[in-house]
Amino acid sequence: MNCEQILAALNDYVDGVRDTAICKALEEHLTDCNPCRLVVDNIRHTIKLYKAGYEMELPAELNQRLHNMLRERWEAKFAKR
Ligand SMILES: [Zn+2]
Repeated sequence: MNCEQILAALNDYVDGVRDTAICKALEEHLTDCNPCRLVVDNIRHTIKLYKAGYEMELPAELNQRLHNMLRERWEAKFAKR
């Protein structure tokens, strides 16, 4: 898996999908890839804060990347219906 595939898979990962193969690939990638690990940490942290009722400012660049990624994923998911 490359970084793009990892980011795409993250959506399912944080949605609570626990596909063992994806988790394994993710974790293996995260061991070697510091930028992706930071993204995952940030997402986990954000979700935790979000669930706890806090809002959080993401760094602009990460926010933009996440936003683009999520929009692509949502379009892929819902535009076909
Ligand atoms: Zn990566």
